[in-house]
Amino acid sequence: MKRLNQAIPKEQKLTIADFMRRFPDDAACLHHIFLSQWADGIVDCVTCKAPVKHHPVSGRKCYACQNCGTQVSPLVGTIFEKSCTSLKLWFYAMYLMSATRCGISAKQLQRETGVTYKTAWRMFKQIRTLMGEDIKLSGNVEVDETYCGGTRKGKTGRPMKGDTKKTAVVGMVERNGKIIARTVPEVSGSTLLNLIKDNVNPLASIFTDEWKGYSGVSHITNRFYSHETIKHADSFVNGRIHTNTVEGFWSLVKGGIRGVYRQVGNEYLQSYLNEYTFRYNHRRTPRPMFLCFWTWLASLHKQCIESRRAHRLHLLYGLRQRFECWLLHIPIVSLSV
Ligand SMILES: [Zn+2]
Repeated sequence: MKRLNQAIPKEQKLTIADFMRRFPDDAACLHHIFLSQWADGIVDCVTCKAPVKHHPVSGRKCYACQNCGTQVSPLVGTIFEKSCTSLKLWFYAMYLMSATRCGISAKQLQRETGVTYKTAWRMFKQIRTLMGEDIKLSGNVEVDETYCGGTRKGKTGRPMKGDTKKTAVVGMVERNGKIIARTVPEVSGSTLLNLIKDNVNPLASIFTDEWKGYSGVSHITNRFYSHETIKHADSFVNGRIHTNTVEGFWSLVKGGIRGVYRQVGNEYLQSYLNEYTFRYNHRRTPRPMFLCFWTWLASLHKQCIESRRAHRLHLLYGLRQRFECWLLHIPIVSLSV
């Protein structure tokens, strides 16, 4: 029998010893956050109005401009900003979350670190909210729906009308690529087609089961999808027509939720799905998962700064327009700012 290669590639390894060496205290964690936001420690100083090197300020969670001393805090706008929990503990929670295959329970974090269950639960909840990525799929894409949550004795499959315990989830996966999973209020044709349209690039080949909600996929305007269905009553694979990749993901999520979290409230299910999809989408990235997460957080921060800048520009432009209107005595109500 051929032996499977179970070794973790060297570039993906980050053992607990490596982690402890790299992040021994709060200062090391703070510096990591700082560098993830401002590469090489160069910050656009608001006083100098130029990019200037900043240095840590002792005893404070801040960095100061080396020319004028103006301080910036890398924690502003992050989940750590108003938290009393130490940064090292936050990092450890993130490490555990990224190092496991099926996640880790708040109870386990409580046992390992001594924080209260409420703190552990809240930390994981906040970390999960950051894990939702915005991606688009192409090529061969499998789409499938499933139901998570409350069980009914002796019954599986679609919930009956009025069953509020189960939450519908739609998964879209690019074969050999990334996955998107979303909770939806129901799996009607319009919900499914809108999701596919928003998340799958034009010209993709879509594979689904025979659920009638998918019948309009090849007719979505300007998308030019090809659509093939597998009839599960007859077989599960017909050449390249199958939904086994997405089904595999469902078993990972359901097994994980059952085994690790036991129960997940409907309102939190999307955040758990974010956690599972994030790990799935970075399983082959040649970096440790924990550092992948930090790369993602740095890109989120950049997006946030850009959107804030765009918002400011928008406001400024709006104000200028209002000012010109005032000069020219044009009624302001005609503006769509
Ligand atoms: Zn300065």
